[in-house]
Amino acid sequence: MSNSFDYDLFVIGGGSGGVRAARMAAQSGAKTALAEEDRYGGTCVIRGCVPKKLMVYASEYSSTIGDAKAYGWKVQAGGFSWNEFKGKLHSELDRLEGIYRSVLKDNGVECHDTRARLMDPHTVELADGATKTAKHILIATGGTPVKPNTPGAECAITSNEIFHLRELPKSLLIIGGGYIACEFACILGGLGANVTQYYRGERILRGFDVEARDVISREMIRSGIDLNLDTNISGIEPKNGGHHVTAEDGTVRMFEQVMFATGRSPNSGDMNLRKTGVKLGTRGEIITDDYSQTSVPSIYAIGDVTNRVNLTPVAIREGMAFVQTVFEGRPTPVDHDLVATAVFTRPEFGSVGLSEEDARKNEAVDIYRTTFKPMQQGFAGREEMAFMKLVVSRSTNRVLGCHIVAPGAGEMIQLAAIAVKMGATKNDFDRTCAVHPTMSEELVTMKDPS
Ligand code: NDP
Repeated sequence: MSNSFDYDLFVIGGGSGGVRAARMAAQSGAKTALAEEDRYGGTCVIRGCVPKKLMVYASEYSSTIGDAKAYGWKVQAGGFSWNEFKGKLHSELDRLEGIYRSVLKDNGVECHDTRARLMDPHTVELADGATKTAKHILIATGGTPVKPNTPGAECAITSNEIFHLRELPKSLLIIGGGYIACEFACILGGLGANVTQYYRGERILRGFDVEARDVISREMIRSGIDLNLDTNISGIEPKNGGHHVTAEDGTVRMFEQVMFATGRSPNSGDMNLRKTGVKLGTRGEIITDDYSQTSVPSIYAIGDVTNRVNLTPVAIREGMAFVQTVFEGRPTPVDHDLVATAVFTRPEFGSVGLSEEDARKNEAVDIYRTTFKPMQQGFAGREEMAFMKLVVSRSTNRVLGCHIVAPGAGEMIQLAAIAVKMGATKNDFDRTCAVHPTMSEELVTMKDPS
């Protein structure tokens, strides 16, 4: 490529999207550099999906022991050691970070362990004042948790700090009703904390299928989470080693720890973006076209900093499409349609496609649903219910949405998503023979719309 620049590509941000793009670009022959000011692996590996999922696993053992007894095992639950788990957790994150670093090194990507910002459309400045030029610059700086301006908010934690707590709190208030709030309510409840959740709206998990959200709420409450809807806080005051939290209705309650899970914002500040001509949206997100190109032709952006679909696999896809477009001569738009997702509540929630409410806005639909007690949990005497729902177009018979609330729903929805993405009809689901006895067989045995 061009000889007049230090690099063909300079990537800012070493999370999942940035690392994948840098590696693929280098493999295609591009001289590539990457700057990361924090740990390699980014939100997903260091302070998001990976440590969260390991905490989900840890939290599930509390009920597994009770279930084992119900299945005839003579077992005794000891206590959960947060410190023992935390030590192993952080060793695992160190290992994964090492893999990210060596992937870059092995592919010849030059790494700068420092912050970088734009100087002009082809130049970045590193924190030590050094400047580097590149034919293309890719911004993959991710996002960060935000707290509201509530008085006392500074004494509350976010998901960034949860993996580093010295001790597990005995009581915790989580504020928010999105992915992070609901997942951590279930995790910390499973680990033995008394969890209270305040959500300002009437139903958690806004944007998803209403019935599925109601099932998850019920199951969270059944599992012992004190879920308060239409509730927000007006202030936090540290007192006697804990926190006095005042709700907007004046109720004051005491919690050992308070965690905000009130959304994330793009990491686009302090990077000279506007001055360089990169257009930002109202929330600070970098505006891109379908090829992840910004308003400055040499600068591209992927992942959460663009606030499109804020999920790790999507950032990775965007990174790969960027490399195909810019370095492999194959202009590739990013397909954001029918992205499946899982919320690791207890039970899990997997979803792909349209909710019933969104589908009904466009056309007449038939709804197939089932609610049942899973065999494994039922035998153990648990009341936990599973729920599955297909939203089907009445005119084309196509499955427009699939929503599963059940143990293992994250695994199930990945497979269902293949069929939905291929445009499967309800008849295709019905032609598929059931795998028995499983929970997911319900997806192909729902006979009548309700
Ligand atoms: P979300 O945007 O999903 O949820 C934020 C929540 O905070 C909403 O319930 C919102 O309420 C509430 N909220 C926002 N502002 C305030 C406020 N001022 N006072 C009180 N409540 C407020 O953000 P998360 O932080 O949970 O997660 C961020 C993103 O990260 C997700 O959207 C997802 O893309 C990704 N993620 C994915 C995961 C996965 O794949 N399993 C796991 C974790 C995160 P309202 O609904 O009324 O706006």
